[in-house]
Amino acid sequence: MERGLIIDQFDELRSLYSDLTLQKSDGVWHIQGQLVFIANFAEQVIEDEYSIHLVVPESYPDCVPVAYETGNRIPRHFHKYKDGNLCLGEPLAVWKTFSEHPTLLGFVQNNLVPYLYSFSYLCKNGRLPFGELSHGELGRIEYYQDQFNVRSEHSLFGLIAILAQGEYRGHIQCPCGSKKRLRLCHGPHVLEIMRSTPSGYFKSLYQFMSQRGLAYFR
Ligand SMILES: [Zn+2]
Repeated sequence: MERGLIIDQFDELRSLYSDLTLQKSDGVWHIQGQLVFIANFAEQVIEDEYSIHLVVPESYPDCVPVAYETGNRIPRHFHKYKDGNLCLGEPLAVWKTFSEHPTLLGFVQNNLVPYLYSFSYLCKNGRLPFGELSHGELGRIEYYQDQFNVRSEHSLFGLIAILAQGEYRGHIQCPCGSKKRLRLCHGPHVLEIMRSTPSGYFKSLYQFMSQRGLAYFR
């Protein structure tokens, strides 16, 4: 990671979020301070602020910053990983969003603020503005059910099985239950995901779903 890149991107970030500071310690860049925002994602304008800490990994911008909320407002059960960093969404979806505007400002505006907005919205309204995703593999199940637009976990399991096994055969019946051939139904979407994810990406999800007593016969 180039020093100049971080400094330029931080200047751009600070032009909108002026209470943040940049420091380097132990070879890693840290951005800390108050993030003050006004956002309107779900037809409700919310103005709020959070104490945040972003750790910019060595491999940035090939991977996203790691985000923490340091004011103890957001409880552990609200989409946080075990070590306390914020779970901003399904990792592939987070990456996809970031890669469209791969800067610190892009990350804050497109990945972090929507997360903080949803927590503020929950506190105000007692419900989340977007469909709630649970943690880890359960969250991934919900994410892919949404992506593939399939209602049952059983239908999804068939599609995940294909992704996990990496064997695409377009002539089989699509596991979603449409009775169409795979290539005329979910096939193109499955192929697109297969091509953009490393092998093994769906292994843990497949195992998790298998343990939930799902079976996929074809
Ligand atoms: Zn289908």
